[in-house]
Amino acid sequence: MSRPAPTADRAWELAGVIRAAMTAELIDAEQRPRDTRDYVYASGFHPCVKRMVLDMVAGDKKPPWEPHRLAGFRMGKQRENDVRLWLEAAGRYGDPKFEVFGKDMVARFYHDNDPRQRKLISGKIDGALRFATGEVGVIETKWLAPWTVGKVHTYADLLRSPWTRAAAYQGAEYLWAPPEGFAWDFVWFVLGVHGDLPHIVPATLADVTPFADEFLSKAEEAVAWRDLVADGDASVDQVPLPKDLEVCHGCWALGSMCFPPQVAAEGAHLELNEDRIAAVERWAELKEATKEGKALWEKLKRWYRGREMVVVGDHVFTGKWQGQTVYDIPDEVKAKYRGFNPQYQFKLNHQAVVKRTEGTAQDGDTQEGTTHAQEAGEAARPEGTTGAAHGQGAER
Ligand code: SF4
Repeated sequence: MSRPAPTADRAWELAGVIRAAMTAELIDAEQRPRDTRDYVYASGFHPCVKRMVLDMVAGDKKPPWEPHRLAGFRMGKQRENDVRLWLEAAGRYGDPKFEVFGKDMVARFYHDNDPRQRKLISGKIDGALRFATGEVGVIETKWLAPWTVGKVHTYADLLRSPWTRAAAYQGAEYLWAPPEGFAWDFVWFVLGVHGDLPHIVPATLADVTPFADEFLSKAEEAVAWRDLVADGDASVDQVPLPKDLEVCHGCWALGSMCFPPQVAAEGAHLELNEDRIAAVERWAELKEATKEGKALWEKLKRWYRGREMVVVGDHVFTGKWQGQTVYDIPDEVKAKYRGFNPQYQFKLNHQAVVKRTEGTAQDGDTQEGTTHAQEAGEAARPEGTTGAAHGQGAER
């Protein structure tokens, strides 16, 4: 085969080959088969019990991860590993000194009174620290986006953010019920971030006990429902739903396997147009930081003008009309004939959606935008980008 001429076209062609090869390798190495299971992952806390049931009984129905998510998982894993190596190297500089041990030690939690000792929650710890003073504690490492880590200073902050909440419950379980033969004094959340030192957030048994308790009782409830569903004695639709729609944001089952009544009652529109779903995913990556992100937001406002609720892949948008006093009469008599147009402008809100990846996280800050009455004529213009895809939320 003769060697092609080194033209600009050829350079671009080979750039495409490199990217395609990297994508294929990533999928081959990182795409794990989805399956069902009869217990809850330690990283699988969710405020909605139905979601925890679906994770167990319908894990195999989750769509495969998109390559960009897989890339995020890989980077997150590598960086978390780097943080652990950093800790190992740092131990001798400590005062008191410390050492790292116990990576991948399995922690399991069982039904209290179950003679069969059924597993309820299972997970592997990231490691533990033993200080020269004899104090020991488990560590939970996470790699976070700077805007997330900037808001996390205490255990309570970890519980507040949808990007770190599952890790907060995970760490609570690990501290509360250590592997046999161990007793942890503390849990330290080691939060790595690009371009800065890690944030180290500690918690004591007193801090975590209510949350470890909550996780365990939710897991008990979820596993009981899972058993009923698996035995054909109940349907997953009978599992009680959360009262608050907030917790549905980013749920992989929203709009595919679960239609909470809040959504139906509020006349939610489920977006099925793949181009628009891809455009929303792209907008979520960019937000308002770039010209492209701003342009996409303008498109979203036009597409969903007049919709009270729209579910687009992982994202939920809500909108409402806002009234404005208008004057349809000559200036000189405005004051006398003042009118009110209830559809003067439409306000579209992005309801923060959880888009977690292992080790990386991004905020789903609420975003607001309006379209005014004069923009309405553009609403029906077909627009979109090519590409596919429903994303998935949550832990992996
Ligand atoms: S969509 Fe909402 S109600 Fe349904 S499983 Fe997910 S979190 Fe629960």
